[in-house]
This record gives sequence, C-alpha cells and structure tokens, in this order.
Amino acid sequence: DLQIRLDASTKDEIGSLAVAINDLAVELDRFRSNRREFFANISHELRTPITYLEGYANVLENELYQNEEERQQYLQIIQQEVRRMSKLVEDLFELSKLEEGRLALDCEEVDVMEVVESAVVKTRMKAEEKGLKLEFHKENDLPSLYADGLRMEQILINLIDNAIRYTEFGKIRVRLTKESNNIMISVIDSGMGIPEEDLPFLFERFYRVEKSRSRELGGTGLGLAIVKQLVKLQRGRIEVTSEVGKGTAFHLTFPVEKRDENEED
Ligand code: ADP
Repeated sequence: DLQIRLDASTKDEIGSLAVAINDLAVELDRFRSNRREFFANISHELRTPITYLEGYANVLENELYQNEEERQQYLQIIQQEVRRMSKLVEDLFELSKLEEGRLALDCEEVDVMEVVESAVVKTRMKAEEKGLKLEFHKENDLPSLYADGLRMEQILINLIDNAIRYTEFGKIRVRLTKESNNIMISVIDSGMGIPEEDLPFLFERFYRVEKSRSRELGGTGLGLAIVKQLVKLQRGRIEVTSEVGKGTAFHLTFPVEKRDENEED
C-alpha cells in the first residue's frame, strides 16, 4: 500500500512533485516491459525443447523408426532436451535468488590460487577432448581474498566452459595476477570472438550472439548474467574485450581488502 502525502504548497514544490511522479511512471513502465520480455523469453526457451520432446516421444510411441540405431538416436535427443530444460530451470532459480538478493554467500579467507587451479582441473578434460590446450599462468605469493570459494570457482568454471564451447582451435589461457590492490583473473581464448556491437549486451539474460550455435552447444543464455551477479556480490568487476576471429578475454578484478588485524569474524 503506497501512500503519498501531498503537502507541497508552493508552485515550485508542485512542479518537482510532478517531475518525481513522472519519473516513477517511466520507471514502472520500464519494469513492466522488462518483466513482459523476461516471461516471453522463458516461454520461448521452453517451447523449443517441448516441441522436440513431443515429436520424438510420438515417433517412439508409434515405432516410426527404421532400426535400433535410429531409435537410440531419438532417445538421446529426448535425454538431451530434458537436460537442457533442467539446466534452464536451475539457472533461472539461481538468477532469481541473485536478483532478489536472496543468495547468501559463505565468505572466508580463500587462497585464490587454489580456487582457480581447481576450476582449471575440472575443465581440463573437456578442453582436451576438443583438442584445446588449457594453460594456467600464476604469479607467486598472492594475498588471500575474502570471498566465497565455491562461488568463485563457479564463476571461473562458467567462463572457462564458455571459452571451450566458443573456441575451435588453439588454446585457453587462465591468468592470475595482482595489480596494485586488486587480484586479477583473466580467461583468454583464441576462439570465434564477439562482434563489438554485441559486447554491451553480453551480460543480459538470454542474450546470445548466435542463437543457434548457443543452442547446439547446450547453452541457456543465462550463464553470463549469473556470473555478473556473483562477481558483483563479491565486490568484483567483470570486463570483456574481444576481436572477431581472434578471440575473447574476460577479466575479473577483486579488491584485496586490508582487514583490521583485530577484527573478529
Ligand atoms: P550461453 O549459455 O548461450 O553460452 P552465456 O550467458 O554464457 O550464454 O553467454 C552469452 C553469449 O555470449 C553466448 O551465447 C555467446 O554468444 C557469447 N559468448 C560467451 N562467451 C563467449 C566466448 N568465450 N567466446 C565467444 N562468444 C562468447
């Protein structure tokens, strides 16, 4: 229940009230169209797998396949679409918690080197299966970060996973350095790159440069939106630079805070 007390008396005050109300109306409008777009996106994202599921379930039910091999292929498509839908639901759940500020971090002093190393180890096999090298360069004697180690790892796995999915040849480099009072982590690939005009929208929900390619690669279009929120929650920044045909680099920056020695957790 919104109650506005109108106690403006002078002409000036009434004028600024009118401006404030107008701004509110514009904001509300933006919020509504944002919400409309969001639900339209979700419906669209769900429609495609549902169409596949209906179609192939029908094929299997009516035994409309030539041989056992074909039957197996249809079953695999069904499984793949179910996985895609679960991933979408999982990502949506996570993003909604993040956007409403309901995701609690479990922060402590973490050894960034260990966190980045763990993300690299977990993604290495996928890179090598694709014939890509995954390199890890690190500076020695880095200070620890006050952060949620598991969430940090999730951010990195997500960026490395993207680098692998959108790179056909060459290598992916993960760099961990310290610059003034910041820890910098970069994920640099030699992949397809991203056109400059797409860069400003990259972290928006469901934004994809090439819809069909992302779909083929099992993407939900929510990964970077989640990453951005997780980075922000830990007082970090994320930036991207890219060149089509050359590759993409994501840079994370986290402030190393000087905590009071006597401060209790
Ligand atoms: P998706 O699930 O589609 O990968 P993301 O939110 O993770 O969604 O990424 C959004 C879009 O950004 C992708 O669809 C892709 O077009 C582009 N993208 C992300 N990472 C890279 C990369 N390393 N190289 C090229 N394009 C990328």
